[in-house]
Amino acid sequence: MSLLLDTTGAVDSGLRWTTGFRALGPAFFTDLKPTPLPAPYWVGRSDAVARYASIDADWLPTPGALAVFTGNALLPGMAPLASVYSGHQFGVWAGQLGDGRAILLGQTGGGLEMQLKGAGRTPYSRGGDGRAVLRSSIREFLCSEAMHGLGIPTTRALCVTGSDQGVRREEVETAAVVTRVAPSFIRFGHFEHFAAAERDDELRALADFVIDNFYPACRTTDRFGGNAYAALLEAVSERTAALMAQWQAVGFCHGVMNTDNMSILGLTIDYGPFQFLDGFDPKHVCNHSDTGGRYAYNQQPNVAYWNLFCLGQALFPLIGDQEIAIAALESYKTVFPREFEARMRAKLGFADAADGDRILVEGLLKLLAAERVDWTIFWRRLSHHVADGNPEPVRDLFVDRAGFDAWLRLFSERSAQTPREVTAKSMLATNPKFVLRNHLGQEAIELARQKDFSGVERLLKLLETPFEEHPGFEHQAGFPPDWASSIEISCSS
Ligand code: AMP
Ligand code: MG
Repeated sequence: MSLLLDTTGAVDSGLRWTTGFRALGPAFFTDLKPTPLPAPYWVGRSDAVARYASIDADWLPTPGALAVFTGNALLPGMAPLASVYSGHQFGVWAGQLGDGRAILLGQTGGGLEMQLKGAGRTPYSRGGDGRAVLRSSIREFLCSEAMHGLGIPTTRALCVTGSDQGVRREEVETAAVVTRVAPSFIRFGHFEHFAAAERDDELRALADFVIDNFYPACRTTDRFGGNAYAALLEAVSERTAALMAQWQAVGFCHGVMNTDNMSILGLTIDYGPFQFLDGFDPKHVCNHSDTGGRYAYNQQPNVAYWNLFCLGQALFPLIGDQEIAIAALESYKTVFPREFEARMRAKLGFADAADGDRILVEGLLKLLAAERVDWTIFWRRLSHHVADGNPEPVRDLFVDRAGFDAWLRLFSERSAQTPREVTAKSMLATNPKFVLRNHLGQEAIELARQKDFSGVERLLKLLETPFEEHPGFEHQAGFPPDWASSIEISCSS
């Protein structure tokens, strides 16, 4: 059966296609078509991502687009495929994985890949059904756009469509498809796959593809004796370090930092059991399946380094020198702390570094952890305190008032050099009012299960501009309700 959409007389999608990942050749993927779903409906759409991908705004809401983004039709020029990769899962080599439920539709003329997640089985589905359920698709859609709104590198999400077709997880749920957009969905695991199979030609072709398309400066590096592959490893390490600093600063827990969930572009990718911290608990584990706490909040920077080490091992046949490979990973150890300190200084509204900042930050983190103070609310209230001079709302977050007052005195002395309005303005643009807390996602999901998608739309609007006040939406910026702690998010999605 042909899935080609009849576009005669229809509004033009605006989409044009280029070769992209497909140019790597058949060793890297399998050609296949998405598997249609019955009677699809819209769950959510992002106009911002439509603009980013040069999709015509009049076409996106049409039935033709609904069919395309459910996997029920293809546009002329789309050449769908599923890519093969491997990876380390929870610290253990897992062998071949691959796009088990993601299907790449193609690369747009603007150089963006479009991918359907949940569009049916592929040769890499192993035991899985190739589907994604409504709840996890809504979470991925909203969180992709929330991260972008926060200024954190991420794959984007154009839309979610749903169908009443049943999907079996712990119980029967319904199917959904997320359309993801990114310059590339290549993961560390793609490199590990060809390295493990000792297929150096493919490994080199992949590295060259990534360098030529995304890291061209590696070709002319004067570091590592001009070794482009070592320069690539270093560049990926630095981007990953910067990403980890952003996750830590905003209180984002990814939940499944396996090497197949690590983007070669340093993007946040594969939203599963993620969580934004409520109360500040450095050891927080957001993934109910992660019983050992491998991916706890405070472990993320170390795990990223461990994953980069796997990438380094995979690239080793190309780098060809152990000392150089290790040296290329070294910068992570300086870039992460430097970036993290810079992020924390920005949260505190300090325009530049000063002696004693580290002590100030460490003292604060101790206070916050001791009382599990709400991470997002604390930073927002501290910002408002700087704006209006009233310390009470932020003080109210602490039982140990004396401890907090002592810290606040040091903070105020440190801030005194800069005019209040200047500090407040930068803090309010750094410390978000809105993050996608589990319970907010859950409320939108419950409504969506009743076919009311207004909760998804409302949250999307708030999360797209999370630093704005959005009067009238205090509920979405408040403390989590008691039931939030009973939400269990696992790898099941
Ligand atoms: P994840 O933990 O979501 O990153 O997935 C790990 C691997 O399992 C990837 O290869 C996925 O494509 C695959 N996978 C996850 N869920 C499914 C599913 N329902 N059907 C097929 N493959 C899946
Ligand atoms: Mg994954």
